[in-house]
Order: sequence, then structure tokens, then C-alpha cells
Amino acid sequence: MHIELPQPKRTANTAPPPVETPKTDDLERYRQAAHALESTQSEIEELEHTEAFDVFKKQLDLLRRRLLNSPQSLRQMFIDDGAQAIVWEFKQDELGAEFTKTLWRLLARDDDMSALLLRFIWNVPLKFKRKFIVAIDKHLSDRYPMFKGLSQGWPGQNGIPPYIRSPEERARDFGLVNQGYLGYMNLGYSAREVDLLVWLETLRDKQCEDRACELGVARPGREPKGGCPVKVHIPEMIALMGTGRFKEALRLIESLNPLPDVTGRVCPQEVQCRSVCTLTGRPLEIGQLEWFLPEREKLANAGADAERWKNWASPWMKAEKPPVAVVGSGPSGLINAYLLLAEGFPVTVFEAFHELGGVLRYGIPEFRLPNSLIDDVVGKIRLLGGQFVTNFVVGKTATLDDLKDNGFWRIFVGTGAGLPRFMNVPGEHLLGVMSANEFLTRVNLMQARLEDYETPLPEVKDKQVIVIGGGNTAMDAARTARRLGGIVTIVYRRTRSEMPARVEELHHALEEGIELKVLRSPREFHSEKSAHVCHAILDVIELGPPDASGRRAPVVTGKTETMPVDLVIMALGNASNPIIKDSEPDLKTSKWGTVMVGGGSQKTSLEGVYSGGDATRGGATAVLAAGDGQAAAREILGEISVGKAEIEELVERALRYTGLAQSPQTILKKVNLAEGIVEMRVKSPMIARAAQAGQFVRVLPTPKGELIPLTLADWDAKAGTIDLVIQAVGASSIGINSMGVGEAFTGIAGPLGQPSKLHRYEGEQTVVFCAGGLGLPPVYPIMRAHLELGNHVTLISGFRTAGALFWIGEGERVDGLQKKYPDRLRVIYATNDGTFGVKGFVTSPLEGLLRENAEGKGRNVAEVIAIGPPLMMRAVSELTHPYGAPTVASLNAIMVDATGMCGACMVPVTIDGRLVRKHACIDGPEIDAHIIDWDKFLPRFAQFKTQEQASLIKHASDSEQAHV
Ligand code: FAD
Repeated sequence: MHIELPQPKRTANTAPPPVETPKTDDLERYRQAAHALESTQSEIEELEHTEAFDVFKKQLDLLRRRLLNSPQSLRQMFIDDGAQAIVWEFKQDELGAEFTKTLWRLLARDDDMSALLLRFIWNVPLKFKRKFIVAIDKHLSDRYPMFKGLSQGWPGQNGIPPYIRSPEERARDFGLVNQGYLGYMNLGYSAREVDLLVWLETLRDKQCEDRACELGVARPGREPKGGCPVKVHIPEMIALMGTGRFKEALRLIESLNPLPDVTGRVCPQEVQCRSVCTLTGRPLEIGQLEWFLPEREKLANAGADAERWKNWASPWMKAEKPPVAVVGSGPSGLINAYLLLAEGFPVTVFEAFHELGGVLRYGIPEFRLPNSLIDDVVGKIRLLGGQFVTNFVVGKTATLDDLKDNGFWRIFVGTGAGLPRFMNVPGEHLLGVMSANEFLTRVNLMQARLEDYETPLPEVKDKQVIVIGGGNTAMDAARTARRLGGIVTIVYRRTRSEMPARVEELHHALEEGIELKVLRSPREFHSEKSAHVCHAILDVIELGPPDASGRRAPVVTGKTETMPVDLVIMALGNASNPIIKDSEPDLKTSKWGTVMVGGGSQKTSLEGVYSGGDATRGGATAVLAAGDGQAAAREILGEISVGKAEIEELVERALRYTGLAQSPQTILKKVNLAEGIVEMRVKSPMIARAAQAGQFVRVLPTPKGELIPLTLADWDAKAGTIDLVIQAVGASSIGINSMGVGEAFTGIAGPLGQPSKLHRYEGEQTVVFCAGGLGLPPVYPIMRAHLELGNHVTLISGFRTAGALFWIGEGERVDGLQKKYPDRLRVIYATNDGTFGVKGFVTSPLEGLLRENAEGKGRNVAEVIAIGPPLMMRAVSELTHPYGAPTVASLNAIMVDATGMCGACMVPVTIDGRLVRKHACIDGPEIDAHIIDWDKFLPRFAQFKTQEQASLIKHASDSEQAHV
């Protein structure tokens, strides 16, 4: 489109020449003036009756009324004239210094005139825009160094970059690295000046008609190349920004995507919108423009969202549409919830963790994506009436069917792919080898780097850290370790150009002093004297022909290289978490465990259940997940098939269920069982309903506490309570034990882990429980379940000393079972010091039973269940092994997140002669004790011993200080 620039109207300098005054005396001057006045007066009176005067009066009247009714109109006249003048300037060969500075000053005024100028320049042809850019480069780069050289290759090759903190500064802290255009405010520029920098970036837009950035480029028989998975109307967004209408641009994006400041930052734009940008040299900064909008609004008016939605009636109250449950609060779930709420659907989001945001919160570090942004999105969803239930693990706390039975008409499953992959190479069990998920969760979710948080971190400062992998997770782990003072190397098996990480992240990582070792892959890890890793043996790799991914396949050359290491972080991507799949036999999943959807729909094989994001794709990207959540919302809202009365009834039920699930987990009763051991009865109706023998819970006592697994000692589904027994050994358990009746836990999730596998043993058989110390509480419900099943049970309960005994007195739990099953429960007590029962460990009576068995006497030991200190479980395992008595050890004490997400609870086991890893939270907590490699496993219990001791000392000194 070509715009013809009209000639300006120039105002000539036409001041009239001065009039000569006759030199007379004052009297004569007065006489003449009086005469003139008289004759003029009569002339005026005469003229007032002419037709011309009549018309003039009417025009004056009209003008007066126009000014009263529309004061803008007069200004418009001036503006029109001004615009003509500007047009004239633009038609000159170049824009002069004075004009450029004046124009910039006017643009910076943020008023109607500047809005008009923004629009004017946005609309002129490219050659005139270029003239403007040349002028600001030449005349304004003193104040704006980022304009220096901007005109070189503008618009295709050059633009104003976002503000990025220097590597030296940022590598030492967790502050945001890429601060976007708003970052320029740190250098002293005003918010309006930043608006103009952003606007300058939009001026590079070629205003293409084929909308490739939004729709991608069509490819026959394949998905389009690039484009925006959430279908943000990018061309319109840029046009609105280019004409200064930032607020409208924000509203436009938000109607499709409530997370612009998330996707704008972390979306791999180089393979999406920017990959098909016609500015091939330097594609438009689309992501930066996108996230600038919500941040700008927040800066200008922090309460804008609250103001905007203040009259919004919650869909839960209106009850006009049926309720939807969203499982998982990652980007796919959040966008799904937002869009459905905005369409009037009542929505509850069920999240397994105590915090919301999924990988955005626990994976991506604050220096890339501040948590406050996720809070903003969650805040918006709450303003729309969205409900959140945290610490709710669907598949454990309740099944999808339970949600349906409780009023949820449709369900969206956005549970991600949170199961970290490992290599299964020798030495992977060593201390100091961990998944990136675990490392990042400790830092991001649990804030372990901050002094006042309880979660321990591996030692990183001045340590040799290697990160295995080449994706975003590897970059985030490496850069986090760098910030914690580590000497970091990324080890990747292909070359740099094949690395799947966002280009920007890799670039930043290298700038921050992280080394890159390509064409290397760990072959094994070694330790020397301790159980801690100290060397990595790396295979030297070369690239062969392309593999299924289309990239050249890594091929081992046979050469190796040794590297000293203190910490190894495995960032090899994530597989699907099996929790939902295992709880829903009819849910169709792929061979990789991903939930199957298809045919252009997000529907799963279960009626009314939709899915998307990493749950269906495997580890992918945030924006693809958001696109799926959006697509599922579109499908759901298109198919309401329920009448008004039914909707109201569904809403009532779902709201009641949501409220129950949200109720605080408060301590109702507390009993001191023995020194340092307390029993608590806690209100937790959801867990109480679902609990089964052998399961446990994950407790977060306080917001700054640590996630710790605790045994489910008992529960009462009717009363909605669970019983926990806690021994004060570390800072966290001491903290819990000091909590009192009426206090609530920050979160309890569960019931977790696999329930005990119960078999009915007929005849002269017995199931033997070896409970060491605090092993009795977890043993109790399993033992009871066996008794209820009709089995004979032998309980060998060992304590340190008589003073440490609990639950065995008259009317107490063990006594209760003995009274109920007098013929089927045999109890043997043992104390280390012989003060009660047999003197010695639980292994002594067990050995007696096994010997008797071998001699064909007594009941046959059908199986042995060992729960207690790790050394005791090992001793039991070693004792039963030669007798061939099946034995399980219950390993819940080793768990961290307890849903499979972190991989911390690895148990090295030998199967068919091969050492493989099991995870106590997914495969256990009960694991066949005879396949556990105890030598390799036991040190893992002491992984954070130093940190735990330091924490104990700190707490002791804090409490001393408090008493002084
Ligand atoms: P998730 O974000 O994984 O969220 C799933 C949520 O469901 C979690 O909160 C989880 O706790 C919850 N959940 C799981 N099971 C249950 C259950 N049974 N019941 C209740 N809740 C459950 N992508 C990018 O685009 N750019 C990046 O820069 C980028 N960097 C990354 C860095 C790291 C370290 C990682 C790990 C991933 C990164 N990704 C990146 C990938 C991106 O974050 C994911 O693709 C995206 O978050 C997937 O979104 P989702 O909604 O499918 O699931």
C-alpha cells in the first residue's frame, strides 16, 4: 500500500506594518476620537441589520455550540494542521535534528497528540519509517544508546533488543536475566520511553497478509511449520501496539491466552512464530512484545485485574453451566480453567503439589520465569471464580470416577510428564547423582537455597558439577548450579547445533561461564572411599546417520575420558507419570505411557475426560501444552448436554466436594506416646476416604518446611480423620512434634504409594511382621488387614527399651487386635536392653521362627514384612534370604515428593543379574527385600546428613537465642 503525502499548509509571517499616528494635542485627539466613535456606532447599528451580519452571528453561535459540545473539534483543527506540517517534514530527504527531537518529545507526551503521531508513523510506508529510524539513530542516540546503529539493516537485520543483565552480574543471583523492554527502566528510562522502545520494535513489522507467525506455513500432509499453538492473533496484536493501543492489545491476547507473560518468556519462539517471520535476519521480538503487555499493565495499575472483574459473578454462584474438574495446574490446566471460567463454567483445579503452576513453578527457575507471574495467572483464575485444591493426587486421593460421581461433568487431565529419565549406567545410585527434577524442585519449589527454608540442598559451591543433557531442563539445572557457586559443565552426546534447548538459554548459559562438552556421554560413575560420586567416565561419541528424530545418531567410538565430579545432574527428559494410568484401567495410553487423544480432538478413551500437554505428548513445551488446554476448552464448551435442574444439582455437589477437599488439615488430638514420639489425629477427609493398608502421606508442616513422608498409622473414613505418628529426629520432625491441637498443616497429600499386596494364606501359615521402633505404626494397619482377611499373623515388635514402648497397653491398639483375634495374632516383644520381652533385636525371635520352620515345626512363615530402621530391614532380609522366606521392606522414609516426580527415592535392585532402579514411591513403598542391593542403597538414607545436622544445630541455637 502506498500513501501519497500531501503538501503541508505553511503559515506565512504576515504581520502588518506599524500605523503612523498624527501628532495633535490631547483635546484635539479626544474630539476626533469621539466623532469616530459616534460615526462607528451608527455604522455598527446599521450593519447589525444586514443579512451578512445575521449569517456571521449564526456561524458564531454554531461554533460556540460545537465547542461546548465537542471541545476536541477545535484541537482537531490544530492537529490536522500539525500533521500536515509533519508530513511535509517526512517528505524532505532526511529528518532534521530539531524536528526529530521535537517529534520524539511529542511522542513521549502520552496524550492524544502522541497517540496520533504513533498511528501516523505506523501507517506510513516503510521508506518513511526507515527515514525516522535513521533520524533517531543520528539525533537521539546520546540519550538512547540502543538507537546507535539501529538504522543499519533496519528493519530486517536490526531491532532494539530486550534488556538483558550482564553475565557477570546475573550469574551470581537468581534475579531475572532477560528483563524485556521494561528492564530499560532500571537504566532510568521512563515507562513512556519504554512504550516507545516497544513501539519502535513493532514498526519493524512488515504487516504481512499471510499471518505466518500466527497460523504457520502450510506443509502438505504435515502440521504447518511454526505459527502460534495458542493462536494468538499476532498481526492484530502488533498493529494495536504499533498504533499505541497497548491495553487493547493485551485484552486481545488474554481472550485466547491468560498466560502471555509466561508463554512470551519461555515459548521456543525460534521454532514457532519467529521461525516463519519474514524478517529473516532478525525476526520480530514477538515473545517480548507479548509479555511486555501484562507487565506494563501491572506497572501502570496493579489492581487492574481486580477492577476489571469486580462485577463478575462467579460461575459457581450462577450455576448456569455444569462443573469441570481440571487435574494438574501446569500451563495446559491453567489455560483450560481460565477459558472455561470466562465462558461461565464452574471450575476446580486439583493439584498434587502444595503450589500451583506445574513445571513453570518447580522446573523453570526464577531467573527465567519469576513465580510472581504464575501467581498472577492463578490470581486471575481466582477472580473469575476458579477454585483450587492442592495436595490432591488424582489417582490416589480420588479417581476420575470419584470426581464424576461428585458432580464434575467434564474433566481435563493436564498432569504433565513428571517422571525423570535416567541412563541406568553403573554408579548411578551413588550419592551426588540426582535428577534435574529433584535438584530444581529443591531450589525452585522448596526454596532450599534460602536460609530460612528447611529443604536440604547438595553441596554445590566450588564443586565440579556436570549436567547431562541438552534441553531446557539441562540449561536450567546448569545455570542454577552456577548461581549456587558450582563449576559447571554441560555434557551432551550430540553437537551444539542439535541441542534442543531454546537458543537463548544455551547462549546465556555459555555467557555465564558454563562449559559445554559435546559428543560425550556418561558410561559410568565411580566413587572412591565413600558412597559419593567422584569421577565420571565419559564415552567419546561421533555422529552417525540420522535416527528416528531426524538428527544424526550418536555412536560410541570406544574411546573414553575421565572427569572429576562432585555432583551429577541428570537432565534427560521426563517420561509419563503412571499414577492416573494405573488407577484407570480403561484409559488408553501409548507404549510410552502417554494418554492417548487424537483425530483432532483432546478426548481420551474415557467418557467426558479430555487431556493435553505433556500428559499426551510426553515432555514437550509450555506453549504446546497451553494450546492443548485451549483446544480442550473449546471442545468442552461446545457440547453442553445437561438441563438446568441437573446443572444446578451438579454444581451443588461439586462445590460441596471442593469445599471438603479444601478444608484445612487441622490437628484434632495429640498424644505423647513415648519420649520424642507423638501421635496426632488430623482432619483429612479425602485421605481418610481413600486410605489403604501400606500407604503413606506426604506432609508439609509449614510453608517454609520440608516435604516429609509419614506413615498412615490409622484412619477413619466416617469421621474424616487420619492418625500420624512422628518421632522427633530431625529439625522437621521436631517442628511437627511441637505443633499443637488446632494448628493446621500447610499440606498433607495422600494416600500415596501402592497399598500392601494382601494374599490369603490358608492352613498353618503365618505372616510375620518385624516392626523396629517406629515400625509399629505402619505395621499396624497392614497387620489388621491381614487379620481381617483371615490370615494368621505374628508380630515381632522391637523397641530400644521398655520406656520407648507404646500402643501395647491394656485397651491400646495392639491389645485391641489381640482381643479381637485371640487365635490368629501372636505378639513377640523384643527390647535391645532386655527391659521388656526378649532381649535383643527383632531378628532374634525371627531366627527362632525360621529355624523351627526348617525343622518342620511351628507355623510356616508365608512372608515377612519388615518396617523400621534401614539397618534392621537389611538384617531381616539377610536372615530370611537363605530360608527362602519371601520378604518385603517398606521404604517410605526415603521419599521426597512421593509422586514419582523427583526420582530421589531410587532403590537399586538386581533383576536377572542386572542392576536397575526402582522408585519407592511408584513401585513401593514395599519392595522385595531380597533384590535390593543394600550396600548401594543404605548410604542413600544419609544423603543429607551433614545438612540435617547443620539444621539441627541452627534450630538449637535459634531456640537458645529465643530464650535469652
Ligand atoms: P506440567 O507443567 O508438568 O504440569 C502438570 C501438573 O500436574 C503439575 O503441577 C503436577 O504436579 C500435576 N499433577 C501430576 N499428576 C497429578 C495428579 N495425579 N493429580 C493432580 N495433579 C497432578 N517449555 C518451554 O516451552 N520453554 C521452556 O523454556 C521450558 N523449560 C523447561 C524447563 C524445565 C526444567 C522443564 C522440566 C521443562 C521445561 N519446559 C519448557 C517444558 C514445559 O515446562 C512443559 O512442557 C509444560 O510445563 C507442560 O505443561 P503441562 O500443563 O502439560 O504439565
